[in-house]
Amino acid sequence: MKALTWQSRGKITSETVPDPKIEHGRDVIIEVTACAICGSDLHLMGGFMPTMECGDILGHETMGEVIEVGKDNHKLKVGDRIVVPITICCGECRQCKWGNWSCCERTNPNGKLQAQTYGYPLAGLFGFSHITGGFAGGQSEYLRVPYADVGPIVVPEGLTDEQCSS
Ligand SMILES: [Zn+2]
Ligand SMILES: [Zn+2]
Repeated sequence: MKALTWQSRGKITSETVPDPKIEHGRDVIIEVTACAICGSDLHLMGGFMPTMECGDILGHETMGEVIEVGKDNHKLKVGDRIVVPITICCGECRQCKWGNWSCCERTNPNGKLQAQTYGYPLAGLFGFSHITGGFAGGQSEYLRVPYADVGPIVVPEGLTDEQCSS
């Protein structure tokens, strides 16, 4: 697939990269139909966020159509149009149960590193450096959405992508 990738400070290029695959049963894969360029992408582009690596795909405000569903995901089906929040949440840990979705204790595999740097680990985030888990973002043709039975919202019929973003 084609994706916008961070190459080095100030340099983002369109590259051909491997298509994402289902890795866990609760994942889905979406065909991206819209993805914002956020002001905070400028911080990442400018090298102000540590742990960016060459080839990282940006984009944390994404929507698209589900094209593949993991075997343990009973909430979404192929053809659903979903809006994907930046935070990746398990829905089951202590912080998720308290409603502190951005502090999910399970979804950031680099949480220890983040706790050392920031004082507390955050949830895994899409397209936001390796300290938040190194998850690919949505400025690409396809996106793997982990724990897709928790965060994403199915778009009501009749709403355009543009209406969802305003
Ligand atoms: Zn943003
Ligand atoms: Zn959680």
